[in-house]
Amino acid sequence: GEWSLGDKNVYDWSSEEEEPDGRARPIQVLLVKDDHTFELDEAALSRILLSEEVRDREVVAISVAGAFRKGKSFLMDFMLRYMYNHASDDWLGDADEPLTGFSWRGGSERETTGIQIWSEVFLVDKPDGRKVAVLLMDTQGTFDSQSTLRDSATVFALSTMISSMQVYNISQNVQEDDLQHLQLFTEYGRLAMEETFLKPFQSMIFLVRDWSFPYEFPYGQEGGMKFLEKRLKISENQHEELQNVRKHIHSCFTNISCFLMPHPGLKVATNPHFDGRIQEIDGEFINNLQVLVPWLLSPRNIDVKEINGSKITCRGLLEYFKAYIKIYQG
Ligand code: GDP
Ligand code: MG
Repeated sequence: GEWSLGDKNVYDWSSEEEEPDGRARPIQVLLVKDDHTFELDEAALSRILLSEEVRDREVVAISVAGAFRKGKSFLMDFMLRYMYNHASDDWLGDADEPLTGFSWRGGSERETTGIQIWSEVFLVDKPDGRKVAVLLMDTQGTFDSQSTLRDSATVFALSTMISSMQVYNISQNVQEDDLQHLQLFTEYGRLAMEETFLKPFQSMIFLVRDWSFPYEFPYGQEGGMKFLEKRLKISENQHEELQNVRKHIHSCFTNISCFLMPHPGLKVATNPHFDGRIQEIDGEFINNLQVLVPWLLSPRNIDVKEINGSKITCRGLLEYFKAYIKIYQG
């Protein structure tokens, strides 16, 4: 593919980080165009990562990745709420407060394969006294044809390479093709990286939405781990291909975990006028959300991005982003 830098005209908004009212918003920093070329908005990415307060801070880069229409933005809006409420115990807020953030402007999200970054980088104090910068990324793709699968694999590879935690958002179950896709993305990523004895990527979290077998494996992280162990188990009598996918995934990530989320209820899934207020979401979903979001984002749980064993700052992350993109150029 061909990468062109900084052509702002392809976006339906200007490349400013904030709306005129000063609110932060998602910024499309990487875009796959209809002709399968990639476009990096280097100017926008630089404005976010090189802003004075964050550029020399070590960075925690959290990506939520997966296909469209699987509730990624909905989840990320809750992650933003947690960040804006400074991880307080009552971070969820009022029951009738509409949800805003990645999905705050309905319809603004065209179904484009690419990476969006929240324009505000959060400064968080770790319990050990270090102040780190937390970056939230939304990575999305489609997997319906060979060409879109290739585009998506590249985008997922990039987001896996630059994140310290990749949340792989999948619907209902971990299917064999979810694992094959993951193998493809990580293979694309690994090929582009220097060989080291270290595992190339940090944390991978399988987030299963609309889990409907809580009697077999309960909702949450423990049930998720038991379920994932079973799905990723390698056995002698398995077909070689199935064994290879599993070995590959194990060899790529330092940490692999899984969280099983319940269905949020019919209002969320089907009502076009639903605005995200908690009072209309199933209680079971909210209970698990109150476990999931702090598990992902609490100051003690977040990990700084490391590449080849070194901790990376926002400024460093920008350089890696640019370098990795060059690898896929041409
Ligand atoms: P994205 O394209 O992955 O970012 O998905 P969105 O967050 O925009 O959500 C797509 C639709 O699914 C919206 O109508 C949401 O209200 C709904 N939704 C959000 N979370 C869930 C979930 O966990 N399960 C189901 N079934 N629907 C969800
Ligand atoms: Mg979305």
